[in-house]
Amino acid sequence: MGGETPVDESSQDETATPSTGSSAASETSDASTETTAAGGDAAAEPFTYDGGSVAPGESANIRYGISETYLGDPVRIPVTIINGEQPGPTVFLSAAAHGDELNGIEVVREVAHDWDHADLHGTLVCLPVMNVPGFLAQERYLPIYDRDLNRSFPGRQGSTSARRMAHRIFTNFIEPCDLGVDFHTSTRGRTNMLHVRANMDDETVLRLANAFSSNVIIGGEGPSGTLRREATEAGVPTITVEMGEAHRFQRRLIDRALTGVASVLAEFGCHRNSSVHWPGWRVVIDSDDEKTWLRADAGGIVDMKRGRGALVEEGEIICTITNPFKEEDDILNVEAPFTGLIVGILENPVVYPGNPLCHLVGLKHETRVALERERGTERSRSELR
Ligand SMILES: [Zn+2]
Repeated sequence: MGGETPVDESSQDETATPSTGSSAASETSDASTETTAAGGDAAAEPFTYDGGSVAPGESANIRYGISETYLGDPVRIPVTIINGEQPGPTVFLSAAAHGDELNGIEVVREVAHDWDHADLHGTLVCLPVMNVPGFLAQERYLPIYDRDLNRSFPGRQGSTSARRMAHRIFTNFIEPCDLGVDFHTSTRGRTNMLHVRANMDDETVLRLANAFSSNVIIGGEGPSGTLRREATEAGVPTITVEMGEAHRFQRRLIDRALTGVASVLAEFGCHRNSSVHWPGWRVVIDSDDEKTWLRADAGGIVDMKRGRGALVEEGEIICTITNPFKEEDDILNVEAPFTGLIVGILENPVVYPGNPLCHLVGLKHETRVALERERGTERSRSELR
């Protein structure tokens, strides 16, 4: 949607629009369960949801009804449950709460369907596409009144269509979990480095964030109604992973995220043969002074000089804003207010005054040294990461 939202999770007006009666969540689960027996072990618990259960050593692909269309047909989300033979934590991996944010879908699909889980301790709850109406329309929001599914958690029965959908997802597939990772991308027209957003005041969230193996962690509990905040408050410590741009599969970012998931599953004892991965350097941003969204002070056409993941010096020109005539007097140079890392950046090169240009985070000296060392030894790698 519009470029006014500088960060993916920033709040959006929640006008109280009553839901239509026809969009009530179906009470029937529509769960067409395909169960694959893989030998059970009584030591582990079955995973149970409203409509079925998946025994230890089994996995199931479920299409789960969360609402109904204008035609009265079910709106069903894909869910894959993989219940390991051995006991362990129940972990959810979710994506596409914003319907056009695709990178996470591929991460969740590959974990669910390409990885070998024969040795899994615990259960994986894989939710590759939560916002099915938005996904079908390739839009960020639920097309029904443009509501934001990721401001509607934990949801509520008898409330708006978005909250009813959120409620079906939350009660069946989020609350039964011990921890979770929710995948997002930047909003359309912008891109960001792979980074974690996490409430670092929560001990398990901190452990989860550290395990994910990202270079950048941005602290904070997140806006009300986001899956990660509401799940964490409900006792399911959850992080958000932001990666790249909407409407794309970005293989390199997907691979980095898969490394993060493997590292998390190692940290919490789900996959005992893999190990926790350290990303080489890390910056944790826990206060507003260390990060800023630079905004345009003029409308015009943007010539971006640096890219996602670039290290910029204080005073360095990040971009220029010009008019269609490229008149010298009207060229506006946008300089870095402090030395830092470009975590998020504009891709669609046009702005109104006030539109965000780039998300800059400050770096401590030792972090910068580690970053430069990594990049110095890997000259062949692009600055895009
Ligand atoms: Zn998002």
